[in-house]
Amino acid sequence: MAIEAIGYQMHGDGFLLRLGHWMRRRRDIIQIVQWTMVVLYLLMLVVPAVLPLPGNTAHILDNITLFAQFIFWGLWWPFVLVSAVLLGRFWCGIFCPEGTLTEFASRHGRHRAIPKWIRWRGWPVVAFMMTTIYGQLISVYQYPKATLLLLGGSTVAAVVIGFLYGREKRVWCRYLCPVSGVFHLLAKLAPLHYRVDSVQWLKGGQRQEKFNCAPLVAVRVMKGGADCHMCGRCSGYRDAVALCGRSPNREIVALGAELGSMWEQRLLIYGVIGVAMGAFHWNASPWFVAIKQHLASFLLSHDLLWPLTSPGAWWMLTDYPAQSDVFNWLDGAMIVSYILTTAILLGATIEGLLRGAAKILRRQDPGQRIFLHLGQSLVPIGACGLFLGLSGLTVTMLRAEHVYLAWVPVLRMLLLDGACIWSAMMAWRIAGQHAGAWPRLLAMLPVAMALGAIATGWVCLYVIW
Ligand code: SF4
Repeated sequence: MAIEAIGYQMHGDGFLLRLGHWMRRRRDIIQIVQWTMVVLYLLMLVVPAVLPLPGNTAHILDNITLFAQFIFWGLWWPFVLVSAVLLGRFWCGIFCPEGTLTEFASRHGRHRAIPKWIRWRGWPVVAFMMTTIYGQLISVYQYPKATLLLLGGSTVAAVVIGFLYGREKRVWCRYLCPVSGVFHLLAKLAPLHYRVDSVQWLKGGQRQEKFNCAPLVAVRVMKGGADCHMCGRCSGYRDAVALCGRSPNREIVALGAELGSMWEQRLLIYGVIGVAMGAFHWNASPWFVAIKQHLASFLLSHDLLWPLTSPGAWWMLTDYPAQSDVFNWLDGAMIVSYILTTAILLGATIEGLLRGAAKILRRQDPGQRIFLHLGQSLVPIGACGLFLGLSGLTVTMLRAEHVYLAWVPVLRMLLLDGACIWSAMMAWRIAGQHAGAWPRLLAMLPVAMALGAIATGWVCLYVIW
């Protein structure tokens, strides 16, 4: 079947269709890009860690450590998240060095079957929360040795898992990567995806040669783009797979009831929204300072001095005396408590409000489908919060370089407003699928309260504090 015919059948855009097929054919170019990324990543990870820390007069463009810090945390991390929202998981399939390395290790490794413990669906939640909290304890955004430990540790684990399990697969990316769950959620909003026509697949077509879907997606029955790494290897298979445009709302509004899961919901509410809010808040929170001072006075008055000492190991708690940046045991305990308390309080509030909204829409919610469906409407505000928090370092570093950024606060509020409106509109359309006019209207009240709670957290950080 000609490309034009497939395009018509798949309702695909001609350019996108050709792009998908080009990606399938030109694996050679993609592999050059992938291995270039691996080399750049390893250089940026290792070189700053063996150099002395930058002095007060160093700049991004004349100091390799600051340059690497800006690339990793100022550009790479926030804008990779943006790319998942705008383009789907192209980052995972084409650019991610860990994906390339784990697939390479899997090609040359032991090819063992994937054990049950790896397939546990809670890993993305646990791994995201643990790496976020640990990253805060060792100040991963500030110090290259901490970056090497956290990112390098993840890369070594990816290679080991790849070496042991699967054959040319990305077992690490599918089940264990600490950020794969976040990309999974964000890619639901992407206006691009590989669309699969299951009927055409069964009929067969011109292109029948086998392909390797490294992240283990069941391509024939793939309905959304959340798990797809957009690598293009299946493009055109049986004339049934094509890169297409779609509405950014489609995967959540039209398919969310079918594709949503409880673990995904937990990651969104307690992780992407709750833990992230706590992690970005503690450094600026007046409550954090007040409670810490209170506890420190209590400890001093009771001659309990050891919690006010540092363990003296940078890989346990931030320990850079020359930079006057040392965390003691109390700091560590406070950071963990603050992040977890924020996650639990904010997450439980949102969960309660969403369950209330689901109850208003329908008294019985078999399999909690309405709750899970409605919860996904918070993906835009969750994505926006992550971007705002992560781009905070970008702004701080650019300010230190005297870049004009007076427009940033306005842009932040516009993004926050836009994300709230997007989430509310999605919730409105989802509610309309489950109930009539009045319950739908009533259910929007708890949804609006949940959005208000999240927005208030960001307003506290960027306006009030
Ligand atoms: S379904 Fe698999 S093979 Fe197809 S584009 Fe996505 S990741 Fe690649």
